[in-house]
Amino acid sequence: MISRKMASIDTARFCPQCGKSSLTRSSNKQFTCSECDFTYFHNPAAAVMVALSYEDELLVAIRGRNPGLGLWDLPGGFVDPNESLEQAVIREI
Ligand SMILES: [Zn+2]
Repeated sequence: MISRKMASIDTARFCPQCGKSSLTRSSNKQFTCSECDFTYFHNPAAAVMVALSYEDELLVAIRGRNPGLGLWDLPGGFVDPNESLEQAVIREI
């Protein structure tokens, strides 16, 4: 079983827009610059997907949002910061 968490950026402090050391964390995924009001979203692209099968059947979901609203899809989604892959699968399912 894989048990890794997404890399943390707890020490990020330099604003990517103005370059000043004024970035502060305002939520688990969001940082705000007190100098220029830039908002940075730490949005890792790691994702999980699971194929659940039972006998000769496969669980398929119908997408609830774009892209692909209404199309068939395998259950899954993005991994949040400080979340393990297993936690992400459980949350998404
Ligand atoms: Zn800034």
